Amino acid sequence: SAISLSGKELAASLRARAKEAADALTAAGTPPRLAVVVATDDGSSLWYVRSIAKAAAKSGIVCDVVDLGADATVAEIRRALETLSADDTVHGVILQTPLPEGASAADLAGTIDPAKDVDGANPASLGRLAARLPAFAPATAEAVVALLDHHEVPLPGRHVVVVGRSTVVGVPAAHLLLARDATVSVCHSRTADLPGMTRRADVLVVAAGRAGLVTAGHVAPGTVVVDVGTNPAGDGGLVGDVAPEVSEVAGALTPVPGGVGPVTTALLLGHTVAAAAHLTQR
Ligand code: NAD
Repeated sequence: SAISLSGKELAASLRARAKEAADALTAAGTPPRLAVVVATDDGSSLWYVRSIAKAAAKSGIVCDVVDLGADATVAEIRRALETLSADDTVHGVILQTPLPEGASAADLAGTIDPAKDVDGANPASLGRLAARLPAFAPATAEAVVALLDHHEVPLPGRHVVVVGRSTVVGVPAAHLLLARDATVSVCHSRTADLPGMTRRADVLVVAAGRAGLVTAGHVAPGTVVVDVGTNPAGDGGLVGDVAPEVSEVAGALTPVPGGVGPVTTALLLGHTVAAAAHLTQR
């Protein structure tokens, strides 16, 4: 059965590196500070925000959760992002989703100073990524590549099939993989013959948000499968987009939880200390 590509070891080393940098910044008088703007009462979203705050605290990063409430207006969210972008004591700004109805995350994230855009949510950051200019990548997309690198999965020339075309995961992951010389196919909800596409992957990245979408019939023997999905499980836990039976055919598979998730959080912390270091120099 498939080798398990855990994210725990990589996440721990990324967190340790972030802590070292954070402690140095704090000693020099600039404690790195991350602000997470929240306008939802969605349980799994709030759970995720708490896990970021806990990880930040352990890495010596101050984390402010700016909770505007589920009935916040677009104007209020915009004002909060503008205020944080202008605040010299804040180095990273994240806009948590979901947002109240009528609010566009991409539009609002355009308000985040790109220098503080540690989750690559500003459309300007995505544009720079596509143009292969320096920018913060969305942490989840970067985590996919970081996890593959950590487990020494080669990318140049190989066919990577990405399932999901969201601008926060699928599309930026495709750009990062192209920059690493992979041959990239992007599939989505309107793709005809999804199993036919995914069976042609050397590396399969699944970010659809549909529990059990990818079954054994979608995967050729030996494929490396990265499961980005995080779906609520019946038992209150978390399940991915990849059915358990896939471990019988895949060559390697990332676990959920314990795969992409912890690497994502650790990269957010790394981005925050990098932003703080850069901002204090300018
Ligand atoms: P999204 O809903 O914005 O996008 C889902 C994408 O999947 C869409 O592009 C859609 O076309 C595609 N899709 C949906 N159903 C499909 C189907 N039946 N066949 C083929 N494609 C289909 O979601 P997102 O924000 O990109 O997140 C994707 C998943 O990743 C979610 O489960 C989310 O919870 C998870 N996620 C995990 C992390 C992490 O750190 N592990 C971070 C962010 C998101």
